[in-house]
Amino acid sequence: MARSITVTTPQTEYDITIDAGWIDTQKLNEIIQNRKYLIVTDETVYSHYEELLNPFECVVLPVGEGTKSLKYFEKVIDMLQDKQFNRSSVLIAFGGGVIGDLTGYVAASYMRGIHFVQIPTTMLAMVDSSVGGKVAINHTSAKNLIGAFYQPEAVYIDIHFLKTLPKKILSDGMAEVIKYGLGFDDHLFDKLETLNLDQLNDSEHEKTVLDIVETCCRIKAQIVHEDERDVAMRQLLNLGHTIGHAIEQFYQYKKYTHGQAIAIGMVVKSKIALLEKRIDQQTCERIENLFEQYHLPLELDDPKMFSTILEAIHLDKKSTGSQIKWICVDAIGKCRIEGTQYEEIVRKIKNIE
Ligand code: NAD
Ligand code: ZN
Repeated sequence: MARSITVTTPQTEYDITIDAGWIDTQKLNEIIQNRKYLIVTDETVYSHYEELLNPFECVVLPVGEGTKSLKYFEKVIDMLQDKQFNRSSVLIAFGGGVIGDLTGYVAASYMRGIHFVQIPTTMLAMVDSSVGGKVAINHTSAKNLIGAFYQPEAVYIDIHFLKTLPKKILSDGMAEVIKYGLGFDDHLFDKLETLNLDQLNDSEHEKTVLDIVETCCRIKAQIVHEDERDVAMRQLLNLGHTIGHAIEQFYQYKKYTHGQAIAIGMVVKSKIALLEKRIDQQTCERIENLFEQYHLPLELDDPKMFSTILEAIHLDKKSTGSQIKWICVDAIGKCRIEGTQYEEIVRKIKNIE
């Protein structure tokens, strides 16, 4: 039985439907409903799912973060204009977070907003980027600088798409899944401890994987319901991200993936929680073990780099004045926002080095 979660925001309401092996030609036709449509995907995803996508009208974009740019924004807009898209037409994002973010931003902009559907194909996109309506493209000066809050009309998740996902990309998405367990749900954390990376796309564990994806989407749906615009509790979803973003920026997005960088960020948060006696040694070890179990790093290759990276935290766009919104771990399944000073963060991190 498919699982269904309703996301409610002040402007709209839509369902996230989750199942295994259910998105086929017929389903795509049902989603399209005789409307004018375009499926947006990338070259790698298209190569894996050519049989499914070939009968449909698709635009196949290059792979990678570079596609979330004004260049490809314009390319898709030009296509919609050629096809005489109107307000009742629908754009379908079929891919990872890059495709979802770009397609969503095009949908938000074209004629001030057309219909848009998310079919996420990476773990990260299933549990994070496809839900909640943050859509954006990058500017040469900063990631996600040009964007909007624009909710899709529906999200359709088929966990069978994870079967073709390379292990490294799957592991990367698992950092966000662990974030939900560590920050919001101790039962999810327990469940993650019973699985490993290799079991995530094997059919024997299908029910567990469906449970995990469903739990993450429920947590995100609830948070988005309470704070769509990211002014209060949605910021809790940034657990590990202030440090993570600083690491990514410092190494110019080359050395560490997003999942690896936020994993290091969350381990730092756990070590601070241990030092401040909010969690005990055994709990801290459980957290570290879980990241290791999903092949994620616990610390920088060169821990001495932390103080340099701290400078980058200072410059992080999320810091307002000298106050930084810092997410603390209080227990497995519980996190909290603290407004803190940059100097205080430096002191805390120096203590655990
Ligand atoms: P991605 O879209 O680049 O996908 C990663 C790689 O996996 C790509 O090479 C892609 O071709 C490949 N791929 C995708 N699905 C596949 C499949 N089923 N089988 C085989 N290969 C497949 O990256 P991502 O990690 O999904 O998303 C990262 C992006 O998401 C970033 O741009 C980030 O800013 C954004 N993001 C957005 C939000 C949000 O709320 N909107 C949240 C988190 C991240
Ligand atoms: Zn993230």
